[in-house]
Amino acid sequence: MEVTLREVGNVLTRTSGYLKTVTSHSLQPYRGCTFGNSLCGVGCYVRHNPFVTRGRAWGSFLEVRENAAASYRRHWRRERNWARRRGRFGVFLSSSTEPFLPQEFRYRVTGSVLEAMLEHPPDLLVLQTHSHRVTDYSELCLEVSRRCRLRIHISIETDLDAVPGLPGHASSVDRRFEAASRLRRLGLFTVITVSPLLPIRDPERFFRRIGEAADRVVIDHFIEGDGTPDGSRTLKTALPRAMKRVDEESIGLAYRERIVQVAQDNLPGRVGVGIDGFAGRYLTRDRPMVEHC
Ligand code: SF4
Repeated sequence: MEVTLREVGNVLTRTSGYLKTVTSHSLQPYRGCTFGNSLCGVGCYVRHNPFVTRGRAWGSFLEVRENAAASYRRHWRRERNWARRRGRFGVFLSSSTEPFLPQEFRYRVTGSVLEAMLEHPPDLLVLQTHSHRVTDYSELCLEVSRRCRLRIHISIETDLDAVPGLPGHASSVDRRFEAASRLRRLGLFTVITVSPLLPIRDPERFFRRIGEAADRVVIDHFIEGDGTPDGSRTLKTALPRAMKRVDEESIGLAYRERIVQVAQDNLPGRVGVGIDGFAGRYLTRDRPMVEHC
């Protein structure tokens, strides 16, 4: 693993494409991801982004943006003004790395950005993570939540501890559930993102468990969810083959519909699908969308 320290120009990137309706900006404390060789890294859409990888294997490098907090402080006013002319200043942290990597607890880039947000809060912060270690920052998250709208998204793609043919989870299913419960008990708005949706052994039990651990759930299939309309990016990876071996149907959208129905039965009014869910728009019982935040 090659870890390097780098300076970033403007850490606030104006969103385009898939994220545009979710937040005005994304913020990456790192370039690259050391979870890249774990299960979530197999289908990770960032591995196909040559601007990020620059020819390097996904999971083999990490650039630590050590001046990220200083960059946020320097640019937030201009970016906030730009965003507010179009709506609100929302930050998605992070869309192409993991904010709570093991290296975070050495370099503390995400932590320093959250501290900068205490002084200069966005209107909305979406914290997106695959790691239970978000709870190491629960006090800081509580402080941020007093200054802006905060949604904490924890990805739990399946109830399976292991998917045959794929590497293991970077953070176990149980630990991520425990993290969600803990944050929710503290009063933080917590969303479990089942993204990308993988085969689920016991959907009823899985969504009952989510209903207890989180405020909302978002379900996102790699088809319509990987930045291509037909999932062609993910179809080039080992993920669909492994999914098919567990559940033949799981690689089609009909599977997502079946799972959404189970989720709706267990969490009525608390289910979002695809990009609408990431944007905080959830289905009502008869399925039009309502916006929460
Ligand atoms: S944690 Fe996120 S960015 Fe990192 S490999 Fe997994 S899906 Fe990709």
